[in-house]
Amino acid sequence: MKKVNPLTKKFIKERARIWIKELMDLAREAELKGEKDLEKEYIKLILEISKHYKVKIPDKRYICKNCYSILIPGLNSTVRIKRGRVIIKCLNCGNIKRYIIRKNRG
Ligand SMILES: [Zn+2]
Repeated sequence: MKKVNPLTKKFIKERARIWIKELMDLAREAELKGEKDLEKEYIKLILEISKHYKVKIPDKRYICKNCYSILIPGLNSTVRIKRGRVIIKCLNCGNIKRYIIRKNRG
């Protein structure tokens, strides 16, 4: 008889989160070094892990799914705030993402 550890699923998800975080750092590094192909692979892997393990990407808004780049404001992207919305533009491919700013609680 095999005992199922109830923490396993949680543990795997936690590992996936750490993995994503590490890949984000690597992708950022690759972007800074101009290693585009490598960066693309990292981003693809991040998206796959996130989908497979159903784990959220912490800085998802800073990933361009159009050209698989990590967006660094002031370097390859611009961030503007307009009418309560954050507008992030990827300067690599021109893709624009919009987010509504969350109101502070209390
Ligand atoms: Zn892009």
